[in-house]
Amino acid sequence: MKTEKKIIITIDGWSSCGKSTLAKQLAKELDYVYIDSGAMYRAITLYFLRNHVDWTKAKQVEEGLKNINLQFLYNPKSKQSEIHLNEENVEYVIRDLVVAEKVSEVAAIKEVRAFAVEQQRKMGKHKGIVMDGRDIGTVVFPKAELKIFMTADEMVRVERRFKELFDKNPNITLDEVRSNLEMRDYIDSHREVSPLRQAVDAEVLDNSNLSEKQQFDLALKWAKQKIS
Ligand code: C5P
Repeated sequence: MKTEKKIIITIDGWSSCGKSTLAKQLAKELDYVYIDSGAMYRAITLYFLRNHVDWTKAKQVEEGLKNINLQFLYNPKSKQSEIHLNEENVEYVIRDLVVAEKVSEVAAIKEVRAFAVEQQRKMGKHKGIVMDGRDIGTVVFPKAELKIFMTADEMVRVERRFKELFDKNPNITLDEVRSNLEMRDYIDSHREVSPLRQAVDAEVLDNSNLSEKQQFDLALKWAKQKIS
């Protein structure tokens, strides 16, 4: 029997473009592992907030990182892998606006990125992986076979994220969501270390006017071209 070639698929782009939705669908269809790299930065931020780590102080960051253990474990109930911080499932609490407000600051720290990137590269050692984030095609896996860069109109993205967060917190406002998105995109694309950039060899996917099905079909076509 012919064994299919396994590749690395990276999906980068602006906040709330639907990267994780697409990444999960592709991973399921291809029977690949899905890794949400943003969840790692969110979990580190949660740890820093809970433990009063002052991330402007290098020593505290270094000590804090030593005490952080991140794992993705499959949850048969939700049928997805979920992030665990020191053995606690934090998949849902890291989506909170409290974490979202600080995550880009934390993710801009060189030592934090080195800590996360080292683990991300290990996860991709055997290929057969779809990873989404901001620097996956440019820094983590610069030789990935398929790189997708996602984008969408800002208002489309704000409304999508608002709907998601509103279900959990009806007090949230559209303005809060918009300013968080704008702030994260600004910091993510202007930081010194691994800024959000479109890789030169990335396929661009603007999904402002695409349905989930249309975007999935397009990405799957690209993946199959690389696999065959
Ligand atoms: O993907 P998500 O929106 O959950 O990511 C949260 C934050 O984590 C981003 O706004 C960004 O600051 C940071 N991040 C990053 N590099 C990645 C993934 C996420 O800096 N590869």
